[in-house]
Amino acid sequence: MPVYEYRCDACGCEIERLVLDKEVVPECPKCGATMRKKISLFAFKADRTSERERKIFKLASDYLKDGKVEDAARFMKKASEYVKTDNIKRASEALNKAVSKD
Ligand SMILES: [Zn+2]
Repeated sequence: MPVYEYRCDACGCEIERLVLDKEVVPECPKCGATMRKKISLFAFKADRTSERERKIFKLASDYLKDGKVEDAARFMKKASEYVKTDNIKRASEALNKAVSKD
């Protein structure tokens, strides 16, 4: 259940979603058009901090696999305080956004 970024080709709007069901494609919140999957926040290119990030994402996805979305969100929030990379920050924000919507 990774976090994906979606883009609306009609109006250019972009959103982030925690994907619980791959088959469900979100509609654009602005114009209602079907959105296109852009990237997975769990699949960024490797860089120097990639190993730490990889471990963090692995742990977070283990929570998600067990359906513990709130635990994953809490974990990512904590992780983002220690590993201050954009990838971790964005994934943490997206997860916590997804949790707060529920
Ligand atoms: Zn749109």
